[in-house]
Amino acid sequence: ADAASSPLLRNLNPEQLAAVTAAAEPALILAGAGSGKTRVLTTRIAWLLNTGQVSPGGVMAVTFTNKAAKEMQTRLATMLPFNVRGMWIGTFHGLCNRFLRAHWKLAHLPQAFQILDASDTTSAVKRVIKAMKLDEERFVPKQVGWFIAGCKEDGQRPGDVVVHDEQTRKLAEIYANYEDQCQREGVVDFAELMLRSYELLRDNPAVREHYQNRFRHILVDEFQDTNKLQYAWLKMFAPPGSAHGQSLLAVGDDDQSIYAFRGARVGNMIDFEREYRVQRVIKLEQNYRSFGHILDAANELISRNSQRLGKTLRTDAGQGEPIRVQESPSDFAEAQWLIEEIQHLHRGGLDRKEIAILYRSNAQSRVIESALFNSGIPYRVYGGLRFFERAEVKHALAYLRLLENANDDTSFLRVVNFPTRGIGAKTLENLQDAAKATGRSLYQSVSAIAGKGGANLLAFTNLIDSTRNLTQGMTLREIIEQVLQTSGLLDFYRTDKDGAERLENLDELVNAAEAFVMQEGFGKNAVGLPVDETAQPGTPGAVPDAETGEIMSPLVAFLTHASLEAGDNQAQAGQDAVQLMTVHSAKGLEFDAVFITGLEEGLFPHENAMSDPNGLEEERRLMYVAITRARKKLSLSFCQTRMLHGQTRYHIKSRFFDELPEDALKWLTPRNQGFGSGFAREYQNAWDRGSGLKGMVGAGRVEKAAWVEPPVPASMKQKVSEEHGGLRVGKGVFHTKFGEGVLLTLEGAGADARAQVNFGRHGTKWLALSVAKLTPID
Ligand code: ATP
Ligand code: MG
Repeated sequence: ADAASSPLLRNLNPEQLAAVTAAAEPALILAGAGSGKTRVLTTRIAWLLNTGQVSPGGVMAVTFTNKAAKEMQTRLATMLPFNVRGMWIGTFHGLCNRFLRAHWKLAHLPQAFQILDASDTTSAVKRVIKAMKLDEERFVPKQVGWFIAGCKEDGQRPGDVVVHDEQTRKLAEIYANYEDQCQREGVVDFAELMLRSYELLRDNPAVREHYQNRFRHILVDEFQDTNKLQYAWLKMFAPPGSAHGQSLLAVGDDDQSIYAFRGARVGNMIDFEREYRVQRVIKLEQNYRSFGHILDAANELISRNSQRLGKTLRTDAGQGEPIRVQESPSDFAEAQWLIEEIQHLHRGGLDRKEIAILYRSNAQSRVIESALFNSGIPYRVYGGLRFFERAEVKHALAYLRLLENANDDTSFLRVVNFPTRGIGAKTLENLQDAAKATGRSLYQSVSAIAGKGGANLLAFTNLIDSTRNLTQGMTLREIIEQVLQTSGLLDFYRTDKDGAERLENLDELVNAAEAFVMQEGFGKNAVGLPVDETAQPGTPGAVPDAETGEIMSPLVAFLTHASLEAGDNQAQAGQDAVQLMTVHSAKGLEFDAVFITGLEEGLFPHENAMSDPNGLEEERRLMYVAITRARKKLSLSFCQTRMLHGQTRYHIKSRFFDELPEDALKWLTPRNQGFGSGFAREYQNAWDRGSGLKGMVGAGRVEKAAWVEPPVPASMKQKVSEEHGGLRVGKGVFHTKFGEGVLLTLEGAGADARAQVNFGRHGTKWLALSVAKLTPID
């Protein structure tokens, strides 16, 4: 009775209340979007703590994205009277990193081990392939990287790989060499973070025992997206039927499972129910997020999927505004429309951070970004090419990493001759051979190289060593400034003709470090505090060593942060900014106004998924996630043409439009106008207004724009004419670049007319007749 009257619990419905205050036993919440799953999870943590059933150190909460983890911390901070930063709340990767930091010795890692981000991983794999003298066409580094990550996510080490042909035998060999290389360099990739912590727990009963004793309550959000390894990892902390009586709460929605392509298995929910003998699956059916039209659309769409566990969602909120649908002639026009919409919403009193622009693929953000930038609207991009992935920033980070760990060969190679120091490819090859022969790092092998090259190498390692000495005792900011100076990076970019922007980014790195220190409280209360984790700031880096209690230096913490986090830098921290992200990274979040852009066949649903029923169902779940992010206003948008890979492509609207309830939609543009007149008119208007399209043509891209490849299934094409300006299907044509060919198809009319031509040696191409010069022959 006491508990139920607590203000924490006042706004919960009966099912939510039951879930929040359930006894400490395994439980599964299976419920649809916006039904309060995450709210139940956070409230339960607060309730457990406030009623003294557990201490902050006894809780572990896991979620998927950094943004979701932050959100959870923020929500908790408002419910609890103490600092939650030290609690074990984070992403799987973040928590694994934290765990390995504390047990680096047992994990056979150097104390200052560094994390390879996606692009580091690819280049590390590439070096292995090169060293093995394998063909990079057959063993594409990125794909080999995926293979390795896939193995790790399946818990497989190189020896476990099932070899059934020559190709897999070689792959397993690359994997083994890659592992050696990472170990030598003291670096780990994302998948390794998980696998290494899992193995450490599996192989060390004492450590396992310790954590099983420690974490009384383990709560996992977005459980539907866990993969095999993550589930196994969780089981290490709280095995089924454990004598320690921990409680494991899994929260999920099978309709929002969107990582099957990365090994996520909805089956984990079913396994969990069985293995933990879950007595009652909690269902939440009231949606508190969205208005009726939005929810109707989501329900109707997802009902087309066959593989569902089955749930219902309803809302007490009214129908709200209809979902608006916008058709634009081009991606530039779409971006322009977005700008007008955002300005309108903002003038109407909506904060920018309550507006989200979602897209299926990262590459779509560029056009939108540049439109936002040009109109001076602050925005923030999650995911994509992030600040910490820009070349100059990575160079600076490489120097910083070498200060902490000179054996990090990835960083060594990145900057040993950047800025140039007269160290040639031959010298580096010799150095790599010497290192390989003795099993030592590049840094340790420098003395083996003779001559001028050797002397230059030595000068480089001396530079690293002296900088390390010089920066002892400095603050993080001072260290970075010093490194930018002594490395020669600043001088280099000062004289570089395109260096201005890069210098700005390096400046920004100093700012980022400053902000990091402020946020994490380093220097104020972190360093040197007694080993009471709940009193530590919550950065992964601030975890004390399990043996010595030593707290990691702010530099290592910052480098870790740089590898793990999206260092989104477009808007200053705290600035009210429009939110840009892929649908994947929007999972779990909500916004007053949501724009789903690029709703075109081939883009969303993605062309890679369209031919496969499972793939299509996953795309539909992705669309369900996108729709259910909106609280009040939802807009859907698609374009007739889009620049992709330097080519203009004709698109048709996504099939998802046909799967939404007609009366929930309001078309802003006349429907079904097809490719024809609408495009021509808009194109002309855009040209007259001098907007993006003109810029596009003016920038000299007409040539490229002439080559059109519509990813349109043949049956959906509108066949308009058999004849166009003397061209006839089946007859020969001549093109100034591709030569002679045979005309296969003619489509569209006016400015939109296009032709499919078989050019023999050059293949079959689609051409826009308004641009391409095709002349009939014979
Ligand atoms: P998703 O599946 O998208 O992750 P979810 O099930 O986790 O959604 P929440 O994010 O927890 O849903 O909740 C959705 C919104 O509804 C939040 O704004 C939350 O504060 C609100 N909400 C949840 N429960 C209630 C309630 N009982 N009364 C009022 N608002 C609620
Ligand atoms: Mg949620």
